[in-house]
Amino acid sequence: MRYAFRSSRSDPLIPVRNGISTRTPRGQIGQTWWGRRWLEPFEESVARPVLDNGRKYARKGQILSITVTPGDVRAVVQGSREEPYECNAQYKTVPDDEWTVALEKLSASSLPVAHLLANRMPENIEEYLGLEPHRFFPDFAPPADCFCECINGGRFCKHLAAVYYILAERFDEDPFLLFKLRGLDTQVIRDHWREQWGIKPESETTVATVEEGATPQPFYGGDVEPLIDLEQQPIQRLDVLNRLGMPTFLPARDETSIGALRRFYD
Ligand SMILES: [Zn+2]
Repeated sequence: MRYAFRSSRSDPLIPVRNGISTRTPRGQIGQTWWGRRWLEPFEESVARPVLDNGRKYARKGQILSITVTPGDVRAVVQGSREEPYECNAQYKTVPDDEWTVALEKLSASSLPVAHLLANRMPENIEEYLGLEPHRFFPDFAPPADCFCECINGGRFCKHLAAVYYILAERFDEDPFLLFKLRGLDTQVIRDHWREQWGIKPESETTVATVEEGATPQPFYGGDVEPLIDLEQQPIQRLDVLNRLGMPTFLPARDETSIGALRRFYD
């Protein structure tokens, strides 16, 4: 069943300079199976005019900012009104104690860990985690869990749809972001794997110093870390990875995994 949300008016959009837009001007949004998995329940539930307008907004770069924190997505979207709209979608997080068990299960197998380190979501991730269905990949959020300032009020609208499409691409690039939305921060995963491999960093302070060198993109705003640094240059600093070493289950010259590890640690 599709939710019979109001379709959108066709007032002219106020253009945005350097807004957040989809990577590609046409074609399918969500190139990975997990990006599609994120979009499918939403596309099956929301009225087509809302989806079409959301895609248009996302392609035109009408999104001014998106922040993802555990259980919460907030965005600012420029529409036809002078004042941009603030949007919010909320999701139930997996409680910490359940995540502790799930992370142990996931980390017991080298295959899913290697996939994730290469920024690929293992196909049977929910089985590895041992979570109930929809605990990791959220079912489509009912309207009560979404809010936008626009005329559609608490209903799902084109502004929220645009945010959904942008998020699908971000999940494509960074599967750890989905863990974060469900309540498990990348730092916790990182610390767990570092501990599991028996690698003791010489100084956590040194690790932190490396991370402090990162330059966030200003347009993401907010007081949480940006989704992704769109203009990030290839990371050259390998100090942390060189000191911590490679996980024993990865081939020493596996450049794909090494590249992913560089990104993960630096
Ligand atoms: Zn709206």
